[in-house]
Amino acid sequence: MLNRIDDYIFEVPIGHQKGMRVPGRIFISERLLEQVESGTLDQVANVATLPGIVNYSMAMPDAHLGYGFPIGGVAAFREDGGVISPGGVGFDINCGVRMLRTDLLAEDVAPMMTNLVEDLFHDVPSGVGAKGRLRVSEHELDEAFTRGAAWAVEAGFGVPEDLEHCEEGGRMEGAKPDQVSLKARKRGRPQLGTLGSGNHFLEIQRVDEIFDDDLAKRFGLFRGQITVMIHCGSRGAGHQICTDHLQVLSRAVKKYGIELPDKQLACAPLGTPEAENYFGAMAAAANYAWANRQIISAWTREVFERYFPDARLDLVYDVAHNVAKVEEHEVDGSRERLYVHRKGATRAFGPGRPEIPMAYREAGQPVIIPGSMGTPSYVLCGSAGAMRLTFGSACHGAGRIMSRTQAKKTYAGAEVKDVLTRRGIKVMATHPKMLAEEAPEVYKPSFEVVDVVHHLDIARKVAKVVPLGVSKG
Ligand code: 5GP
Ligand code: MN
Ligand code: MN
Repeated sequence: MLNRIDDYIFEVPIGHQKGMRVPGRIFISERLLEQVESGTLDQVANVATLPGIVNYSMAMPDAHLGYGFPIGGVAAFREDGGVISPGGVGFDINCGVRMLRTDLLAEDVAPMMTNLVEDLFHDVPSGVGAKGRLRVSEHELDEAFTRGAAWAVEAGFGVPEDLEHCEEGGRMEGAKPDQVSLKARKRGRPQLGTLGSGNHFLEIQRVDEIFDDDLAKRFGLFRGQITVMIHCGSRGAGHQICTDHLQVLSRAVKKYGIELPDKQLACAPLGTPEAENYFGAMAAAANYAWANRQIISAWTREVFERYFPDARLDLVYDVAHNVAKVEEHEVDGSRERLYVHRKGATRAFGPGRPEIPMAYREAGQPVIIPGSMGTPSYVLCGSAGAMRLTFGSACHGAGRIMSRTQAKKTYAGAEVKDVLTRRGIKVMATHPKMLAEEAPEVYKPSFEVVDVVHHLDIARKVAKVVPLGVSKG
């Protein structure tokens, strides 16, 4: 059913599904492919039927079932004749990850680990409906929607250098707060500065291995160093924006006569009011998420300062892994403006791209790949293969292999916590059930997933970090 193109590239042929305009491509090892359900491959094929799709409907090695598009999916559409689809972005618009590097050594931090995790758990609210410590006005909420992390820095959360180290400068152009419903505003207002549930986390880590000395130096990473990783998104605001615009786009599908194999692929032709309004609302949610991660970073710094008053916590980089963006890419020998959808996929631009901050431009973009609360996470560097093969994209994590429902039947939260504690990992969660749903075994082995993108020269391995203390949603 799949054609093998290369050791790590498999093709879903055009014949797989009626109406496919391009083939599908899955970047994966044979071993990992065995764990991908057939439904995920069908989703890759479904996306290939969308108007204006360029080259291939793609899936990364962490791919699994999603809403319409697979998670781990990448699809680019030409400006002329293409579409935009909320399913290609996901409900948690601009869910993303950032990494802070410290100048602290793991051995110095170890005695304080319990305090740090307890304080982080307390100071950065988490859980499904968590409300934050912040009380923002309607005006400030608009600022978050239009100016993202730039607003947060002005409001006192962090320093201007943080913005340089965020994808898009932590602020996406073209946000339309007037396309954000009252319901989305209502959900979003009390939630700025909150992590959210289960899969979202705030983690203290130790750099365990360096794969590339030169790149590690550029990213300011060294063995034995303490790093902090923050994973969260746009909370209820983004979810509501996605829900609202899916309704509009479902009607647009009929209005513009688009044939879909799955109604979850609701979309609108680029240039139509429906498409532009979704894009503007999505950008607003993306900005909210950047403000959110920025606020959480400021509180993380405060917690560290309590125990290590002289410590520095500098932002290595902040990546968005659920977003659609307008980017220039080479298509058949010429530059084209494309709407690149990354849903559970990370931008991984190679050297030279102007979007990369000066400090990293010669090297390539830092690519931050979380593993799980019990397995390593990785820092990679975007490379030439990404520009050639995947519109500058890599995986976004290890990727789930077991559903939450199945995980709750298989694991007990208390036991998961025990095992981690015995391994020296301090974990706190809002509910033991979350720990069962998030057991390290529910995810693919992170090293196998990053090895795929490394071998394809999509993103090169720079450093491996291991968890020491985790605050889970
Ligand atoms: P998602 O955005 O799809 O919810 O999650 C991204 C990735 O984060 C998952 O595929 C998984 O590999 C990783 N992940 C989930 N929980 C944790 C955690 O507690 N710590 C770390 N380091 N990674 C995690
Ligand atoms: Mn998320
Ligand atoms: Mn995420």
